[in-house]
Amino acid sequence: MRCGRSLILYLFILATMPSFYACYAKISPADTLFKKRTIQKKMTGFSVDKTDEQWMKQLGEEAFRVLRKKGTEPSFSSEYETFWEPGIYVCKGCDAELFSSNTKFDAGCGWPSFYQSIDKTKVREIEDISYNMSRVEVVCNACGGHLGHVFSDGFGQPGGLRYCINGVSLGFKKKE
Ligand SMILES: [Zn+2]
Repeated sequence: MRCGRSLILYLFILATMPSFYACYAKISPADTLFKKRTIQKKMTGFSVDKTDEQWMKQLGEEAFRVLRKKGTEPSFSSEYETFWEPGIYVCKGCDAELFSSNTKFDAGCGWPSFYQSIDKTKVREIEDISYNMSRVEVVCNACGGHLGHVFSDGFGQPGGLRYCINGVSLGFKKKE
């Protein structure tokens, strides 16, 4: 009985580990993919600039927490996680066009995932060493809104990257 219970626990840990690892994977500084990328340290110089009060009024509590305070929405909570309509995903903060549905894929991690941004100038990739991890944060290059992180585990996708993006940071424009 006791043995059976630990076996179940062991299997549970084994089963849940990949999903945890998928979105919190540590990026080794030696990662060759990331060596070639322009990772910035600056969170300044954005063309859209508003006060916290103005952002809160515009975005509402949850989008404000994620976009302006670098929060994370709960996994599998976004309508965009399983949304496959053709169109363009825009920044919820400033409407900048960020990702195309053509590059969206099902990573199974609980957040909308893309293998590239619509244009390299639209997002800024920033070194993020919070929570004792070495990650690359992705923000909107126009308003600085926090979108998510980019990982090098977009296995099977062109370029091999996975932009793991909070759905609450995005809006959607349907293809005409
Ligand atoms: Zn923006």
